[in-house]
Amino acid sequence: MSWDYEDAQECKERLQREIAKRVQRGEVFEALPAPAGSKKLCTTFWGQAWCRNLDSYQVYESRLPRGRSYLRQGKVYNLEIEPGKLNAVVAGSELYDTSIHIRPLPQEQWSKIVEAGAGQVGSMLDLLAGKLGEGLMKVLTDPDNGLFPKPEEIRFNCSCPDYADMCKHVAAVLYGVGVLLDTRPELLFTLRGVDQAELLSNASSEAITELASGEGDLAGADLSALFGIDLGSSPQDDKP
Ligand SMILES: [Zn+2]
Repeated sequence: MSWDYEDAQECKERLQREIAKRVQRGEVFEALPAPAGSKKLCTTFWGQAWCRNLDSYQVYESRLPRGRSYLRQGKVYNLEIEPGKLNAVVAGSELYDTSIHIRPLPQEQWSKIVEAGAGQVGSMLDLLAGKLGEGLMKVLTDPDNGLFPKPEEIRFNCSCPDYADMCKHVAAVLYGVGVLLDTRPELLFTLRGVDQAELLSNASSEAITELASGEGDLAGADLSALFGIDLGSSPQDDKP
């Protein structure tokens, strides 16, 4: 039997020993928990929309199913999302470092999204839960002008020996983002380098201004709770 066909269990145990060794040296290894088997990979609006977008990448079609399978087997570790960047370690035959660059959303594209969303996003809570009107959902998930990256906006590196195009490790990390968005949808905006607060409706800003001037029906209401955002100190506090 060639090394290519090392028993899966043996491989897993070898990598677990390697991880334990590194943890002992002080490295952090946190597996991204993903649903196994045929359960839905993602269950929320943002997680599912992210994965649907990946599913549509015909250019990487051959690598995507293996990526999903790796993720479901708990092989993605330490997934980190920063503006324009993803990092993770993936347990293949060895532990591989993957880094993925995703082009931040062009300002013009984001401005158009904000414009389209004007008056339609009631609260941060609704936005992050994907409780939005159908029209706005379409804008946000539009394959060309929405929030999700196109294949040509993605560059990747993996320390595995056999990657030519997109390897299964990179594909696993990309699907891992969908799983992470299920619990932390705000990371999509972080990744694309935009501020989701700009999507809050004009109506909300007007209400806040009204409150600040002591007018309007909302005076005295708990605005943080109302809009699902942390408003910090009230503008009234700044008045002498
Ligand atoms: Zn790889």
